[in-house]
Amino acid sequence: MEKIIVVGGGPAGIMAALTAVQQGASVELWERNQQLGRKLAITGKGRCNITNDTADLGELVTNIPGNGSFLYGALSRFTPRDVMDFFRDAGLPVKTERGRRVFPVSDRARDVVDVLTEQLAKNGVVLRCGMRAKRLCLREGRVAGLYDFTGAFHAAQAVVLATGGVTYPATGSTGDGYALAEQAGHTVVPPRPSLVPLETEESWPAQVSGLSLRNVELSLWSGETRLAKEFGEMLFTHFGVSGPLVLSLSQTVCDPKYAGTPLNLHIDLKPALSPEQLDERLRRDFGAQSRKIFQNSLHQLLPTSLIPVFVALSGVPGDKPVNQLTREDRRGLVELLKCLPLTVKGPRPIAEAIVTAGGVCVKEVDPKRMASRLVPGLYFAGELLDVDGYTGGYNLQAAWSTGYVAGLSAAWDE
Ligand SMILES: Cc1cc2nc3c(=O)[nH]c(=O)nc-3n(C[C@H](O)[C@H](O)[C@H](O)COP(=O)(O)OP(=O)(O)OC[C@H]3O[C@@H](n4cnc5c(N)ncnc54)[C@H](O)[C@@H]3O)c2cc1C
Repeated sequence: MEKIIVVGGGPAGIMAALTAVQQGASVELWERNQQLGRKLAITGKGRCNITNDTADLGELVTNIPGNGSFLYGALSRFTPRDVMDFFRDAGLPVKTERGRRVFPVSDRARDVVDVLTEQLAKNGVVLRCGMRAKRLCLREGRVAGLYDFTGAFHAAQAVVLATGGVTYPATGSTGDGYALAEQAGHTVVPPRPSLVPLETEESWPAQVSGLSLRNVELSLWSGETRLAKEFGEMLFTHFGVSGPLVLSLSQTVCDPKYAGTPLNLHIDLKPALSPEQLDERLRRDFGAQSRKIFQNSLHQLLPTSLIPVFVALSGVPGDKPVNQLTREDRRGLVELLKCLPLTVKGPRPIAEAIVTAGGVCVKEVDPKRMASRLVPGLYFAGELLDVDGYTGGYNLQAAWSTGYVAGLSAAWDE
């Protein structure tokens, strides 16, 4: 076996390099930054949601709406269980939390990067930090090596491209791999944001910026049609909304199918209660606080910072005595609690997205080998591919699995 160069020291590239070297290949891992895994180190709010502990392949694929079916082969060859075993064997215990999200027991994404770096050294991968790939060298229709940014040539039998997408570019993922893939004749589906915060037309979210709502239901509407609905946690920001629920729904917002379509968000603040139950609850709450004014009677019901916003949106004067609230007032309040409306202005810029949708067209990649169908010796792994999943560890699982298969295939490249 001759030398393999893996480009990109993120999760996909690291896994590809480790897998290839374990097959006996001589492997160089190029990373443009001075350290590996800068994005990996900030994943999962610094805790790294490594994978999702599901044994059901179909379910895994459903949670990867962007070309998940392309990943069937890779996900079955390197499963979430394999990922968990890999980290345990490498000395990093993992735990499973709500929603089967897997994290390191230490709750430190940094430890994931450290353990991987250790494994690379132990297995003899030649690490070339500060090395940025510029161009492929193609000879007689196959890969012969790479040129770096100084113009120097590096011969290689096979090249694995794992340069990531274009989100959080300060981490090094600036889309270099797209140009390299295009040079080999590959189609790049235009990158677009996925899992991205949303800006709203209304400015009131800024007044409650930083407020996080748990156990709410968020739905996305186009006119009278509900497009998506999620239950969980969301966050208000200076520009609109973010948090897990919003990131999930953003995949529908960014779907080219809805470009130019006016979209609205409805927040159900009390999804566990029917309108009738909620009305009953209000009657009880107001009955117990009949001497107060309306704006001082909502503390049992709503987070403090949301109360002024809620009162303003309700149209009921804040200084109205509670004992003068009418049935009609209550009906309006129930409606607002069940459906706090927001108008989607659009997604935040792609640089702020968690994941890039779009990328190297999967039709031109052999899913069994992660090999280019156009140029022998060229392999792809990770977010560079036109693949994107929901939050919950699915994107990293896609990176580990495609990295594993690309590394294995590159090691046996002929
Ligand atoms: C804030 C945040 C939190 C996230 N949290 C989670 C989570 O908890 N769970 C989850 O599943 N997913 C999460 N993701 C998504 C996940 O991080 C990515 O899907 C994953 O990192 C993709 O891995 P990758 O190896 O394909 O690319 P990347 O991690 O982007 O790595 C690509 C590497 O290639 C290097 N590179 C680029 N160009 C070149 C070049 N020309 N030469 C050499 N090197 C180059 C880059 O510097 C980079 O280090 C999160 C993303 C973000 C932004």
